[in-house]
Amino acid sequence: MKLTALGVWGGYPTRDGGTTSYLLQSESGFNLLLDCGSRAVTELEHELQPTQLDAVLVSHYHEDHIADLGVLRQYRQLYPLGQDGWDGMMLKIYGHAEDKYEFSKLTMDKVSEGIAYDVAKSNKIGPFDVTFLKTIHPVTCYAMRIVERRTGQVLLYTGDTGYFSGLADFAKNADLLLADVYFLKDKHDMPNHLSSVEAGRIAREAAVKLLVLSHLPQFIDLNELKSEAQAAAGSAVVVELAKPHKKWQL
Ligand SMILES: [Zn+2]
Ligand SMILES: [Zn+2]
Repeated sequence: MKLTALGVWGGYPTRDGGTTSYLLQSESGFNLLLDCGSRAVTELEHELQPTQLDAVLVSHYHEDHIADLGVLRQYRQLYPLGQDGWDGMMLKIYGHAEDKYEFSKLTMDKVSEGIAYDVAKSNKIGPFDVTFLKTIHPVTCYAMRIVERRTGQVLLYTGDTGYFSGLADFAKNADLLLADVYFLKDKHDMPNHLSSVEAGRIAREAAVKLLVLSHLPQFIDLNELKSEAQAAAGSAVVVELAKPHKKWQL
């Protein structure tokens, strides 16, 4: 599988960069958008036609994760049928159904179909098997463990979350841990996001190979964030900062 960062800021876009959004592609050609923050559509256009998306998977309904869902659907609704092979395919949008109002907005007549993921079992989304774990956040949010069936490769995406010990178990032996990191080490046990050292600790305890720091803070030195995470993760873990259009081929 291949992961491409599209937007990597937490909260709000800045400095010509958008908020949380990633493109996950399988070897078989399935294109899955992980969260759909601001600028997702225009960043996506640098990678593929937004009409080529097969599905969207959202961790929760904060704006920095769903801001571009509306314009993504308008893009597909207004794109001329037949152009570049566009067949008007309905977009499947997977989200949790614990917020009925937000979940209901995922469905749009002839354009998109909201599908509630089942957090109690494994969910088949194209070539991926996805399981979920509720995180610590002001609104209901899910971390997700995404396994590519054919290769067995594992991406662990934390969504937005404060630290809790269950995350390391959930992330065990993942090939890539994509973590929400919004604080330096002076903050810990926050009710919303991880700190640098908490993300590093989870990576070390889970024995992941690669830790990618994302959902980045606007007013913190990112090199400091990275070196704190690296110190906590230990030398066995490669730690990198996410950046728009940076790619990880697993
Ligand atoms: Zn967020
Ligand atoms: Zn959030």
